[in-house]
Formats: sequence, structure tokens, C-alpha cells
Amino acid sequence: MSDSLNRSWVKGADDAEGGFGLDNLPMGSIALEGRGARVAVRIGDFALDCRSVVETGLCDRLDRRVRDALAGESLNEFMGLGQVAWRSARAEFRRLLSAGVPDLRDHKVVGAALIPQWGSSLRLPCDIGDYTDFYASIHHATNVGSMFRPDQPLLPNWKHMPIGYHGRSSSIVVTGTSIVRPNGQTVAQDAGPPSFGPTKLLDYELEVGALIGTGNALSQPIAIDRALDHVFGLVLLNDWSARDVQKWEYQPLGPFLAKNFASTLSGWVVMVDALAPYRVALPSRPEGDPEPLAHLRAGHDCLFDVHLEVTIASAAMRAAGTPATQVCLGNFSQMYWSLAQMIAHHTSGGCNLRPGDLLASGTVSGPEPESRGCLLERTWRGTQPITLGDSTQRKFLEDGDEVVMRAWCDRPGKPRIGFGECRGVVLPAR
Ligand code: CA
Repeated sequence: MSDSLNRSWVKGADDAEGGFGLDNLPMGSIALEGRGARVAVRIGDFALDCRSVVETGLCDRLDRRVRDALAGESLNEFMGLGQVAWRSARAEFRRLLSAGVPDLRDHKVVGAALIPQWGSSLRLPCDIGDYTDFYASIHHATNVGSMFRPDQPLLPNWKHMPIGYHGRSSSIVVTGTSIVRPNGQTVAQDAGPPSFGPTKLLDYELEVGALIGTGNALSQPIAIDRALDHVFGLVLLNDWSARDVQKWEYQPLGPFLAKNFASTLSGWVVMVDALAPYRVALPSRPEGDPEPLAHLRAGHDCLFDVHLEVTIASAAMRAAGTPATQVCLGNFSQMYWSLAQMIAHHTSGGCNLRPGDLLASGTVSGPEPESRGCLLERTWRGTQPITLGDSTQRKFLEDGDEVVMRAWCDRPGKPRIGFGECRGVVLPAR
């Protein structure tokens, strides 16, 4: 491929630090004044309105169904078309955005199709039908388990299957949405009695989410070696959590109101094909750990080398222009259970997944204290507070705090792939 097909004519798209060049092209949905909601592709700092491009006829070589889905309001229909359709559209956008192809660059629609200030118009990329949250990091599960059950941090099932629960999709919001501190039942002593009021232990959880593209029919499980073919792409997720509510309510059926008040999704979906250079093998299990059962054993590289970061900025820091404080730097490749295993397990009893379903990894924590993906672990239940850039201390989140999660892939000789942000400010309880 000549160089003019590897560079883009879009200003700034090839910036080395950007992560949104021709090799990424994540997809999302934006709502534009006067135009309504549109499927969009991110290129550099711009959002490309797909319907406007389809209407020019410049991508008429794409299958009619693909063009119709790209002209829609959100990604569900396109996601359901499957890998061949995703690849054809990706290749077509790559062609039309490359420096060697002037068709779109010189077309009169380009001024309207390429949106520079899309920040406030970003929507959830698709209608999320079902949301499942896993608990797949051994560092997170061991840390949290040891706080609540020092004698037995990991329960006997943990190394045999990716543990998860069915979450709530109605309260998933897109990056930039403020979060209201939830009220809930909490207890001063383990056995109660409870009182009702604002959570005192509000936390974030750093997670990676997979949006399902093509689903499976009821009672037809997805085989592990086909599992990633069903994934449209990955996003960042902040699974906001009320720890004091969680502690009182979680037995015997698991998290409920501690998790269902809000979860924040980054808006741009990084497609699995864009992550191909960053696929890595699941390492051999440590000696003494059980091998997974046959239906959970993958014959391919199914982890992703994605750097993850969390920062916090208090209201005072933002007012003073003080940079946000980095409170976590981790990597998604440190998971014990892979996404492919989560999908194989999820469907192994016959459960059907549908286009737009969200499967989240659970908190991504690494072995080092700096790579712990939530404040519960990072401050060790509040016993080791962290200090922010305004010299205040945090055990858990305070009103006015802004949490920003970022993710990117970067290796020498490989294109940088950005995920963008997952951002939210904590508002006082109502
Ligand atoms: Ca979670």
C-alpha cells in the first residue's frame, strides 16, 4: 500500500500522539442540531457524519444493507450485520479518508460531514439491551476478597469460571454526564439497623466493556474460538459503586442498588480489527491453579494490551487550573479471564446475546498498588488515603470530584490506538 493510502487528508489525524488515525476509525453516534442522531466515525479530532457520506454516493460500492445501516441513528443495525459488513465499511472509510483519495476531501459535503466540535453531541453508541458485569481480574478479586473474607479471599468457584452478574442497562450514560450521589441503605454495624441517606463511600471502577455485534440464537452457545468474532468493539466503562450500600445489600444475591444508579461509557467503540496488533496470549496459569474446562480453553490470543489510566480532579483543582492527579495506571492484558472466556461462559448454558449487549470485564487491577482500578483497593478501604493535586486527601469520592478514565494502545512500530475518555463529575445527593 502506498504511503498516500496510509496517511489521511484530515488535519491532525496522523499526529503520533493522537491515536485516531486511519488504523483506528472507532465508531459512535452523535446528535446534531437540525440533523438528529447519526452514526459517526472518529478521525483525528473530528467526527464524520456517516449518513452525509452515504448520501453523496461515494461509498456506493458498499452493500445496500451496509449503507442503510450506516445511515441510521445508532449502531445496533450495523452491529448486527456481522464481521464482513464491519470490515467492508472500515475499508471504505479508510479509503475515503486517505490522502491518496480526494473524492470526499474535494466533495461539497465535506464541510458539513466532518464535525470539529462534537463533544457535547456524543450519545451512547447503541441501544444497550442487556448489561453483564464480570469480576475477572484476580488482583481485584483477591484484594476485595481479602478485605471482606481474610481467610478465603477467592471463593472455590473463582478459578473455574469468570464470575459475573446481570447488571442494569437503563442507567448507562455516555462520557461527560454528571453523576448524582445516590441515596441508599447503609449500616454502622454489620447486623444493622440500617439508615437511609447519601452514600458516604462512593467509588469508581475502571473497566473495559465489549459491545456485542452479532448475537447467538437461544440455546446455541458461542464456541470460545468464535467468541471474539461476535464482538463489535471495546469501550471504557466506569462502573460507579456505593461501597457502604454494597456491603449491606450484597448477600445473598449480589450487587443491586450499589451499582445500578449509573455506569459511564466512553462514546467511541474501538473495533476488534483495530486492536489486532495488540492481541496477546493468555499466559499459562500459575502452578497449582486448575486448568479451565475444555469449553473455556481458547486456542488463540484473546487478551488485549491496552493501557488504562484514571485521574481525579476536585472542583477546587479544576477552578484553579491544577492538573488532574493520576490515581491509577494499569493494563487490560493483566486479566485472569479473557473476554473470549467470558462470552463462552455467558452463553454456555444457552443464553442468547444480542447486538448492542454490553459485557464488562469487572475492575481491572494489576499487581502493583498504582494499578489498582478502584478507590476501595487503592486506599485499602480508606486506610491509606491518596493525596490530590490540591493537597486534599481522598478515601472515597467527594462531591465535585471529576473522574476521567483513558485508554490507549501503543507499542514501537505499531499504530497508536486511542479510546478517548470516560468522564464524569460527582454531584451532591438529592
Ligand atoms: Ca464492576
